[in-house]
Amino acid sequence: MNLFGGIEAGGTKFVCILASGPQEVRAETRFPTTTPEETLGKAVSFFREQSKTQPLHGIGVSCFGPVDLDRSSPTYGFITTTPKSGWAFTDIAHYLEQSLQTPVAFDTDVNGAALGEYTWGAAQGADPCLYLTIGTGVGGGGILNGHPLHGLVHPEMGHMRLPHDWQADPFAGACPYHGDCFEGMAAGPALEKRWGQRGETLPVDHPAWGLEAEYIALALNTLICALSPKRIVIGGGVMQNPELLPMVRRRVLELLNGYVQAPAILEQIGRYIVPPGLGNRSGSLGAIALAMRLSESRES
Ligand code: ZN
Repeated sequence: MNLFGGIEAGGTKFVCILASGPQEVRAETRFPTTTPEETLGKAVSFFREQSKTQPLHGIGVSCFGPVDLDRSSPTYGFITTTPKSGWAFTDIAHYLEQSLQTPVAFDTDVNGAALGEYTWGAAQGADPCLYLTIGTGVGGGGILNGHPLHGLVHPEMGHMRLPHDWQADPFAGACPYHGDCFEGMAAGPALEKRWGQRGETLPVDHPAWGLEAEYIALALNTLICALSPKRIVIGGGVMQNPELLPMVRRRVLELLNGYVQAPAILEQIGRYIVPPGLGNRSGSLGAIALAMRLSESRES
């Protein structure tokens, strides 16, 4: 069985695994994202150590962004204009390829997670499907015709504009680019800024959650109307409140108001908007799936 390396490169932590699928994870390490040198150095050391005993057939990276996915671009495989200190225009893909002498597949964190969920998790058989994360940031990726969704650059679902009822929510938003975009209103830092305490410390019946469900449902309403996904997987730290997902589903039904005539939505919304099937490994296992696909394409 061929083993691959998978990296979930997040803005707050990196997860590196050695695996051939969810049933076969041979090794895993997690460490905080510090400087590019230190963080990428730790990833390289982990895989060098692992590959001493078992050959590595490639590496996949599900990477925080924005990233450059254009293979003809001189900055392909880079993190580009991130506001994260020290990480703007950091070469990820070539650096790993050179350091580990193995092919590297590269995509956004959320496209990687979408591919992981599509391959082995809660979105199997659902094409197109979407994966959203609501955590330190908000992002969305997807699978269309069997492939991660790319475009002019890549989808930035976290930065869509949402209707903002200033009376119900006078908070101006936390996005450095847009203020009250989806991420600016619904990510963990927005919750903390608006309520003066971290999301995980807010009681499950706090009014914060009704507002949170409202923003997520508004975004999902737009995504359902624009992309007609067959399933939507939502992960991320903010979703840890078990009351939140049922509230989101109810509000999505209200907002769509019976217009999208699909039994998957009208009768089975509990199986339509779902938590990740791979737990906290959607991104890292998605990176394994990216590496496997690259390996298959090189062999054929
Ligand atoms: Zn924004």
